[in-house]
Amino acid sequence: TPGLYIVATPIGNLGDLTQRAATTLCRADRILAEDKRVTAKLLKHIGATAPMTAYHDHSDEQLRDKIVSELATKAVALVSDAGTPLISDPGYKLVRAARDAGANIVTVPGPCAAIAALTVAALPTDRFLFAGFLPSKSGARASAIGELASVRASLVFYEAGPRLHEALVALAAGLGERDAAVVREITKLHEDAVTGTLAELAEKYSAAAPRGEIVIVVGPPAERAETSDDDLDQALDEALESMS
Ligand code: SAM
Repeated sequence: TPGLYIVATPIGNLGDLTQRAATTLCRADRILAEDKRVTAKLLKHIGATAPMTAYHDHSDEQLRDKIVSELATKAVALVSDAGTPLISDPGYKLVRAARDAGANIVTVPGPCAAIAALTVAALPTDRFLFAGFLPSKSGARASAIGELASVRASLVFYEAGPRLHEALVALAAGLGERDAAVVREITKLHEDAVTGTLAELAEKYSAAAPRGEIVIVVGPPAERAETSDDDLDQALDEALESMS
């Protein structure tokens, strides 16, 4: 069926490519890739032969218009280098344009580092905020962290090895004493998750920068002791009684 297919791909282990993702890529008339060399390896592995076009959200409007005009008659698949498109990866502007044009848009879900990290971080998952990459300049980073400090949810950040230590130091400074996890190389040979407070983790990663791709998960702020309605009712009853 013609339309735009948003296809998640593995984040390190080819075994995580879903059957539906493979079928969709094999049947596609065109595949939009972030980096054609990276995607070529995946396509070779599954025997997909559709032509590839490089696509980024900063690709020019003309290319986007051309792609959108194809969607009425062709099956076009969007993939990124790894994981789920649009999640700290290109695709938002394209999906927006396709939606505006009334095109058929289909998601083919699969691996996503943020979600995978949450499953092993041993931190609350009932409410979380995906914060993507922190700004690399220290001032902008501190204010981005400041904006998140009052959010009552776990926080999920993407990071790269060389920047891990400074990110942890900035998080410890801006968020205070919180439990956190550094989850590295998910689904790869050296997958690991290290847990501790932000200060402990900053200390632990102060020497050599760890290799590979990283997700930082930070637990929510400590609950403030709140007064419930029942507590208030009881206090009122007691006060009234003492007056009679
Ligand atoms: N769209 C991707 C997804 O669904 O997870 C994320 C793309 S983003 C450009 C790349 C970042 O994702 C990395 O810097 C890292 O923070 C995280 N990441 C991707 N693969 C990972 C893995 N195998 N282990 C840990 N983090 C990973």
